[in-house]
Amino acid sequence: MKIAVVGSGYVGLCSAAGFASLGHDVVCVDMDKDKVDKINRGEPPMYEEGLSELLSETLKNKKICASAGMESIKSADFIFITVGTPSKPDGNLDLGYVQKASEDVGNFLKIRGYCTIVVKSTVLPGTAENSIIPTVERISGKKAGKDFGVCSNPEFFREGKALEDFFKPDRIIIGQYDDKSGDMLAKLYSSFQCPLKRTDLKTAELIKYASNAFLAMKISFINEIGNICKNLGIDVYEVAEGMGLDRRIGGRFLQAGIGFGGSCFGKDVSALLHKSQELNSRSQILEAVLSVNSKQPTRIVLLLKEKMDIRNKAIALLGLSFKEDTDDVRDAPSIAIISELLKHGCTINCYDPRAAENMRKIFPSLNYGSSALEALNSADACLILTGWKEFNNLSDKDFSVMKGKVIIEGRKILDRNKVSNYEGICW
Ligand code: NAD
Repeated sequence: MKIAVVGSGYVGLCSAAGFASLGHDVVCVDMDKDKVDKINRGEPPMYEEGLSELLSETLKNKKICASAGMESIKSADFIFITVGTPSKPDGNLDLGYVQKASEDVGNFLKIRGYCTIVVKSTVLPGTAENSIIPTVERISGKKAGKDFGVCSNPEFFREGKALEDFFKPDRIIIGQYDDKSGDMLAKLYSSFQCPLKRTDLKTAELIKYASNAFLAMKISFINEIGNICKNLGIDVYEVAEGMGLDRRIGGRFLQAGIGFGGSCFGKDVSALLHKSQELNSRSQILEAVLSVNSKQPTRIVLLLKEKMDIRNKAIALLGLSFKEDTDDVRDAPSIAIISELLKHGCTINCYDPRAAENMRKIFPSLNYGSSALEALNSADACLILTGWKEFNNLSDKDFSVMKGKVIIEGRKILDRNKVSNYEGICW
């Protein structure tokens, strides 16, 4: 099949490389010329495990290429829309990129036969039907369901494990406007060994939001339990393990810590909350999920302040990305923590194996080290903010280069057998 992917960020490029490796001919379209050039040179613009190798292989086999121009979508059987859907300042969804992509796609539909538009960007229920389809129809002069098909195919992958999840997803959701496009998309996914659920467009759109809201709720829930645990001298991880043995609960997404971040959970829960308010049905659960999460990162600073006067001290921060295995710092808890420490005049010596470059765009004047040891050197205290596996190898010897003795982890990653004196935010 010929596939065009409009928007070559985390979702677009990983999906594109995945489909290309399965033998499809894929064009990645992006309005960012720099990104396009990098992709064509075999340099993924973001870090994702295995992506560099897969991109090189598919470029070599001439199964993938990138373009800054939309004309490359002319011959595609499927046009995936994978552009960003950020939050507006009020928390509502900003559909600007989706609108522009729909207009561009509409323009090219004028001069071609039936193809299927697949909306993979996360959009609120009703967006495909009330916004994308009318735009494409208006610009192209063609009719959805007759001249072109429309599907919603939300993406559920985990950043850091995006390719693993592309090839082995838990499920595939196909929301369809017309049977023909739904059948075609189901055929594209026919080699995938997982349940495939077909729905109408708006149901598929809501499945994505409900899933992310539920996962975010699990994290806020366990963080609240963790905050109780901390006051009672109980390790929340033991509690979570005990809870997770119940199959009705399950152990995943019960890792307490400094809260969720990333480009999805916060913005998706906010957008759903907005939608519920628009419908006059206030969602108290969604409000609580966001409220708990907004306070969680800086709890680690409060804990640090209980141990020492942090004014003008040197603090080592290990980990900046919102989670391990990614360079993504969008909405990372580390941002709130850094801002709080800076308010107290702290000097910040930080280290992240992948995310320093992205964090430098937000905080250019921190001291960015090239190793954990460099960040720890002469620090008065250390906060661990991302669960990168390499931090699991740190030992007392590594921490001995610090001036102070305070070590607090915001993600459970240190090994009690190697480090004798530290504590966790909720354990
Ligand atoms: P991203 O910001 O990494 O990538 C979006 C890309 O789209 C950018 O490269 C941008 O230049 C490009 N773009 C924007 N408008 C364009 C246009 N009109 N034409 C061509 N290119 C255009 O975003 P992302 O993280 O890949 O997320 C994309 C969508 O997928 C969002 O709706 C997001 O909520 C959803 N999603 C993301 C993840 C994730 O883990 N990142 C997971 C599931 C779903």
